[in-house]
Amino acid sequence: MEQEKIEASEKQESEYFISEKYSMDSFDVLGTLGVGTFSRVRLVRSKDQPYMKPLALKILKKTSILKMRQLSHLRNEKELMEQLDHAFITKILGTFQDDYYVFFVLEYACGGELFTRLKKLGTLPSQDARFYISELVLALEYLHDKGIVFRDLKPENILIDRSGHVKLSDFGFAKAISDSKTYTMCGTPEYLAPEIILGKGYGREVDWWALGILLYEMIAGYPPYCDDSPFNIYQKILLGRLVFPSYFDDILCSLLSALLEPNVQKRIGYKNNAASDLKNHLWFSNVDFNLLLIKECPSPWIPELMTEEDTSNFNTYPDSLEQPHAPKFTRERDPFVGF
Ligand code: ATP
Repeated sequence: MEQEKIEASEKQESEYFISEKYSMDSFDVLGTLGVGTFSRVRLVRSKDQPYMKPLALKILKKTSILKMRQLSHLRNEKELMEQLDHAFITKILGTFQDDYYVFFVLEYACGGELFTRLKKLGTLPSQDARFYISELVLALEYLHDKGIVFRDLKPENILIDRSGHVKLSDFGFAKAISDSKTYTMCGTPEYLAPEIILGKGYGREVDWWALGILLYEMIAGYPPYCDDSPFNIYQKILLGRLVFPSYFDDILCSLLSALLEPNVQKRIGYKNNAASDLKNHLWFSNVDFNLLLIKECPSPWIPELMTEEDTSNFNTYPDSLEQPHAPKFTRERDPFVGF
C-alpha cells in the first residue's frame, strides 16, 4: 500500500516539469539574452510555428540547482509563475526537462532590463519614472491580492516589452504568504526593508519599501542607502537617515518618505487597501490606473529593433548552439523525478 502511494506520487512528480507541448527540439536557438546565478536565458523560436513571436527559454542546469540546494525554490518559482496572468508580469508558457536541464518557456521582453536603460541614461525623468512605478504598483497589487510577496524588486528584474511596458521577472524569491509573516532574509542588500534585516518577520509591505528604493534610484541615479559592503548598507538602512537630493520636489519626497517608512505599521501600503492608499497619493494624481492597466497610456520608450530577433537591448554573451556540458541524470537517480 505504502509502495503504491510512493509510486503514484513519483509518477505524479515525474511529470512535474514535463509539458507535452515542448522539448528542446521544438526550438531554434537564436542567441543568449542573459545569465542568472543558476540559469542561462536564450532567445528561441518555435520550429513548428516559425511565424510566432520569439520566446525566452530559461535553462537551468540540474546539478547546479542541487549543489546550491535550490530544488524547492525552483519548484516554488514554477508554481507561482503558473498562477499569474497580468499585463505587467512575465508569463510562463510551459516547462519541460531533459536528463541535464530544466527549461522554463517565457514570453520574451525584447526591451531588456530597466537596469540597462537606467545605466545608459544615468537617471530617468520624473514622468518616465512615474510610468514605470505606476505599472509596478499594479503588478505588486495583483501579487499581494493573491497573497504573494515578490521580495526582489530591483531594476535588473524589471524588463521592458515590445511596446515599452514593464514585465516583472524572476520569481526566484517570491513567496505565497497570504496574511502571515515570513522570516527568511533574502533579496538584494540595497533594497531590503529594515524588518527583513531585523529578522523579526515581515509581510508584503517589504515590496512597497523596495518600490520606494527603486523610485529613489530611478530619479537620483543611486539608491538611498548604499555602500561597498552589505553590512554597512544594513547599518544605514537600520539607521534610517533618509537624505533627498535638493532637486527632489516636495510631493516626491512625501511619497518616498511614506514608502521608506521604517515603522511598518505607518508605511503606506500597510493597511488592507494598501495599493489604493498609494494610488491616491498626490504624486500619482495625473495617472489613470484603469487606462494604464489596459496599456492605453503611451510608454516613455519603445525599444528600437532591426528585426524581431534583434537582441541589442541585452548584453552580449559568448554563445554556442550546443548546450553547455552538464553531467547526465538517468531517470533512476534523477532527484527531479521525485520533484
Ligand atoms: P538571478 O541570479 O538574478 O536570480 P536567474 O537565474 O533567476 O537570475 P533570470 O533573472 O530569470 O535568471 O534571467 C537572467 C537574465 O536573462 C535577466 O536578467 C534578463 O536579462 C534575461 N531574461 C530573463 N527572462 C527574460 C525574458 N522573459 N525576456 C527577455 N530576457 C529575459
